Amino acid sequence: MSEILRRGLMLVLSSPSGAGKTTLSRRILESDAGIVMSVSATTRAKRSNEVEGRDYVFVSPEEFERMVRNGEFLEYASVFDHQYGTPKKPVMAALAAGRDVLFDIDWQGTQQLKERAREDLVSVFVLPPSHEELERRLKTRAQDSEEIVAARMAKAASEISHWPEYDYVVVNDDVERAHAKVLAILEAERARRSRLAGVGEFVAQLTR
Ligand code: 5GP
Repeated sequence: MSEILRRGLMLVLSSPSGAGKTTLSRRILESDAGIVMSVSATTRAKRSNEVEGRDYVFVSPEEFERMVRNGEFLEYASVFDHQYGTPKKPVMAALAAGRDVLFDIDWQGTQQLKERAREDLVSVFVLPPSHEELERRLKTRAQDSEEIVAARMAKAASEISHWPEYDYVVVNDDVERAHAKVLAILEAERARRSRLAGVGEFVAQLTR
């Protein structure tokens, strides 16, 4: 069977910190060769388990401002007193090459993408399974101070309140199940008629 030409899609995963979204993103990238990660720029400090250029591009506030002024971001927002933004160029290049792009961004960024590219956007809100589990996961992130953990817990409720703005909601009770759900969403959205730019041509071949 020949592949039908289609537009790439933008798959956004948002959640409060500690919902297990980073692990989920990694699993999706490992299991699906057709999707690439959008690597954000941030002004926050690198954690010791993070790799420059893989997890984030770590920049100074001045460099971030320069990127904003030059229009280098597809979206950007302030989260927990730090700046985060999605560099436009790699996303555009991936979509042009017919690949899908995965974003780990917050609700503010998702809203901006919705305004700019509603047709290409598929948004998923990932929820932790319970209050206790959320707290436990935030605490095991050892490099953050007690203060940061408390601040994140307090903000989790307000972040969670944005779930109605998303296309899909996935409860991350078990990473395998959550992973399977996101892959199912991705496959279904890839088959959406409006994305299949080449379907007319394909049908013409079938019925010639
Ligand atoms: P963390 O500092 O824990 O890696 O991320 C904090 C929050 O910032 C997460 O909710 C994450 O989704 C969000 N975030 C990361 N990169 C971006 C980005 O480029 N844009 C926006 N709007 N949010 C981001």
